[in-house]
Amino acid sequence: MKCGNSILNAMSRHKQLDLFAFDLNSRQEPAFRPVAGVAPPPPAASPAVPTPRPPTLAGDVRWREVYAPSQVIGYALRRSRRKSIGLVINDDGLQVTAPSWVTLAQVDAVVLEKAAWVLEKLRLRQERQEQLATADTQWQDGGRIPYLGKRIELRLGDAPDGPVFEGLLHAPEQGDILRLPLPRHADRDRVRDSAHGWLQLQATEWLGQRLDRLQRSSGLAATRWRLSSAATRWGSCNSEGHIMLNWRLIHFEPAVIDYVVAHELAHLRHMNHSAAFWREVERILPGFEVARNALRRHSPTSLPLL
Ligand SMILES: [Zn+2]
Repeated sequence: MKCGNSILNAMSRHKQLDLFAFDLNSRQEPAFRPVAGVAPPPPAASPAVPTPRPPTLAGDVRWREVYAPSQVIGYALRRSRRKSIGLVINDDGLQVTAPSWVTLAQVDAVVLEKAAWVLEKLRLRQERQEQLATADTQWQDGGRIPYLGKRIELRLGDAPDGPVFEGLLHAPEQGDILRLPLPRHADRDRVRDSAHGWLQLQATEWLGQRLDRLQRSSGLAATRWRLSSAATRWGSCNSEGHIMLNWRLIHFEPAVIDYVVAHELAHLRHMNHSAAFWREVERILPGFEVARNALRRHSPTSLPLL
């Protein structure tokens, strides 16, 4: 498993492990050699996913199209020195890299073989981009945001001084009200900033408590921890034992938050994602897989869109 994929980096000198590299790993199919043998997957029943050619392509990239059972799949092909064919989905669609000795027909065959996976990933990505386009509409009176896995409602206009949460801070219910001290028609940036401020306060408290609890029960201890607002990772742990936790985790249900905390604590023992690492996660938080799978569907930039 690849670690050390650093995008933000106060600590780039140290070996860094990031959850992003693992948890969003499903976007990147493990590389495999172009040998046939696996039967093609059944055609997808869902409607066609557009795979348009980007307006511009780099000089060493060639555009290809293959005919899958359900639809045409366009993809960008780049030759590389790697020894296997790699498939990655990004904002420009399907990107394929292949060694120069592999024929175009062989590359097409691999894309066809993985058609169901490719189309599913493209569909999910396009859905998320559509959600992001409408995310801003939440930052207004009556808007709903997730807090500890429950959707709470923003109300503007009546709060006296600071934000007031009309519910149990650590056991919210669906539809609980968060009153923000802003005029009823405050613009979205002010509403978002005010709500973020409140969420970050709750994150400091909740994450700190969960970290304490799991440290005590596991016998592990970070040298220090702090909140992060990284765009691409939920948490990280470096070789000096510093743990960073994304404040946006406060949007998730408690079990998911515990999983991220346990994941980073396990890195204090194992700076990798080996089998021993996952056994350590299991020791700290038995049955963590459900929460891990829930988190896989999200990236920090897609929140608060639970
Ligand atoms: Zn990790």
